[in-house]
Amino acid sequence: MEMIHLHVHSQYSMQDGLCCIDGLIKKALHFNMKAVALTDHDGLYGAIQFYKKAKKAGIKPIIGCEIRVKTHREAKNYYHLVLLVKDNKGYSNLCQIITNAHLSNPGGIPAVEKNILAKHAKGIIALSGCMSGEIFSSLLKTDIKSAKIAALQYQQIFGKENFYLELSLHGLEKEKEVNSKLIEMGEKLKIPLVATNNVHYLEKKEAPSQRLLNKIANLGTKKRFHYTKLRTSEFYFKSSGEMEKLFFQTPQALKIQSKSPINVIWNLIWKKFTFPHILYLLPVLLKII
Ligand SMILES: [Zn+2]
Ligand SMILES: [Zn+2]
Repeated sequence: MEMIHLHVHSQYSMQDGLCCIDGLIKKALHFNMKAVALTDHDGLYGAIQFYKKAKKAGIKPIIGCEIRVKTHREAKNYYHLVLLVKDNKGYSNLCQIITNAHLSNPGGIPAVEKNILAKHAKGIIALSGCMSGEIFSSLLKTDIKSAKIAALQYQQIFGKENFYLELSLHGLEKEKEVNSKLIEMGEKLKIPLVATNNVHYLEKKEAPSQRLLNKIANLGTKKRFHYTKLRTSEFYFKSSGEMEKLFFQTPQALKIQSKSPINVIWNLIWKKFTFPHILYLLPVLLKII
């Protein structure tokens, strides 16, 4: 089965991701994947390099970002949410969302409120996020009511076709527990599931290096660069076969990102998205200046 990794962190997820862009593309090519997404934390720092190099290698780049959402203006808790660009409108909206996240919290942790997401949702696909996502966190606390409210809010913001509940399995007990609740919720609320591996490094053997990076990040004084410790060595770039084995009980969550004529995500990779010219040229212009 052909599948696409839709939740991937590169070195541009500062002090959290280990994958270099070249390595990422090489790995996708090696596994015969037609596309790959880049969803770094809070920004699009690697997007131009990723877009150019993937295109050159014949791989479709899916531009995205793992943003942080706050439930209200004064909220102390932030939740992760993965956003993927469907088209040029989506790209411009994602830029607006990221800009707002940074400007509304100067010097602090970049995060957006849901009304900002609603204003700029067009052209974007949203995945419910990792263990730090709002729905996952509520389900872990067995707060089913809050999880349901959040799921319906995101579905309303992005539209029925563009919001997915994210299933992940990195060898943690709490994931199994929450996944069964996510599957139940997906059935009840008619929200499709998508299986992801929260990729932070290319090879399993690189897990200790990522843990070291995480230690350095969490020693820093800037709280915005503090990241949750990844507790297993499973956050690596898995092959389609490995993903199939892992999600054998929920093949529907892998079908979403496999080739099918009616598949939103697979269709997304054939949509015509081109980087706005000025952005594409910006690094060149900066060199000249
Ligand atoms: Zn996350
Ligand atoms: Zn992530």
